[in-house]
Amino acid sequence: MRVAYLYPNGYDYVVAQCAVWAAGGIAVPLCITHPPTELEYAIKDSQSSLVLVHPQLEHMTSSISGQFDKIVYAGPQEQYKENREFEMPRLYPMATSRRALIIYTSGTTGRPKGVVLSHANIEAQAQSLINAWKWSDKDKILHVLPLHHLHALICALYAGATVEMLSKFDAMYVWRRWTSSTRDLTLFMAVPTIYSKLIQFYKTSLPPDAQLIATESCSQFRVMISGSASLPVPLRNEWKQISGGQVLLERYGMSEIGMALSNGYEVEKRVEGTVGLPLPGVKVRLIADDGTNVTEEVDTPGEVQVKGPNVFKEYWNRPEATAKEFTEDGWFKTGDTAIREPSTKMYRILGRKSVDIIKSGGYKISALEIERELLAHPDIADVAIVGVEDAEWGQRVGAVVVPKHSETAITLNALREFAKDRLASYKLPTLLKLYDDALPRNAMGKVNKKELVKTAFPPKN
Ligand code: ATP
Ligand code: MG
Repeated sequence: MRVAYLYPNGYDYVVAQCAVWAAGGIAVPLCITHPPTELEYAIKDSQSSLVLVHPQLEHMTSSISGQFDKIVYAGPQEQYKENREFEMPRLYPMATSRRALIIYTSGTTGRPKGVVLSHANIEAQAQSLINAWKWSDKDKILHVLPLHHLHALICALYAGATVEMLSKFDAMYVWRRWTSSTRDLTLFMAVPTIYSKLIQFYKTSLPPDAQLIATESCSQFRVMISGSASLPVPLRNEWKQISGGQVLLERYGMSEIGMALSNGYEVEKRVEGTVGLPLPGVKVRLIADDGTNVTEEVDTPGEVQVKGPNVFKEYWNRPEATAKEFTEDGWFKTGDTAIREPSTKMYRILGRKSVDIIKSGGYKISALEIERELLAHPDIADVAIVGVEDAEWGQRVGAVVVPKHSETAITLNALREFAKDRLASYKLPTLLKLYDDALPRNAMGKVNKKELVKTAFPPKN
């Protein structure tokens, strides 16, 4: 039986999840930032026969009807609402191949897919990160991401750590909490856009004396982690500066596999622009376009493929998709391209094969690499590089740029001039579109480039 549940980040969410497991069902977490159409999609795609809803969120499901029962329920812990800190129930190893969760992917490249994780998958994902990032029951994390973004929650549940939940990220709340007198948080995990919003708030809304306190408050954390999208080096550097020396630990993962690659826990093992090495228990390999295994001696790009107890069972109800994404010998094809640096063996993510690897005039160009360089431009707030179909070149490099100040005129020539010493000439954008507002990013801070290219560079005919 599948049971979908719509709860804000909080104790009730965890209770709902554990209750479904205790009853032998498959839990389908719904994301509170999704519009009703997305919720309906997840409920129906997963064929959930029961939906649990928090009373405050009932309006989000009132327009959805179908073959399921609905229970509106705010667990007995409702009285703890004002206090966001909870001792989590502790999970004990279940190591069974039973289906535990259906997590929907972020939908960056199409309709979200239901990823089926078994209890054994979840346990393997948690234990690997507990080892690598040294979780213990002394840890306390302020959780600002949607909880279906699973790894922090499961690590806390297995390690017996404490989670303080924020139902929605809010830069002012986060800074206020960090600088409060209880400096007892030990970990923070976020996506790059959250770090950039925290920096923005720090710079524009905190007076100098409060900035000093804010900087000093970051020393309570033993580690601060970034992932889900590429961490721009300028953002990494700026964070280091305002946080009084915190070097963000960048990791790489996806709904289907949990985490696969991570920078080292020791600060000196965190290398900018890389996502580090395979996590304990996770096997990673690179497969070149010609199907051969990329050896450790060369820096040829290849598709990241992953194997291990962390890897999901199947896409829900999509046997063809599941079959297509696994090799005959059981490796999961992530669809992401990376290179491995021969000297350090660390991985550098170049982007998704389908949208971030631009094929232009016989070259294969990484959109992520260009984005990283252009973000160093002092007048650029945000940028997405897309491949624009072109009869002559196959694809051209298009830049969608959000200037820091709307009055700044950024031209294509200025952009190319800025980047020409950092990037080979064939990588320089030949098309530019300026956006006054933010780029359209989904809840995880990701840009749907297939959509963006259609609006930014519509085909001329
Ligand atoms: P969908 O599969 O529906 O298109 P999605 O792939 O964005 O959505 P997730 O599973 O949430 O959904 O995200 C995984 C993807 O995020 C990875 O495949 C990779 O492309 C990207 N990603 C994760 N971490 C990093 C990182 N550190 N650097 C660059 N990209 C990353
Ligand atoms: Mg994906």
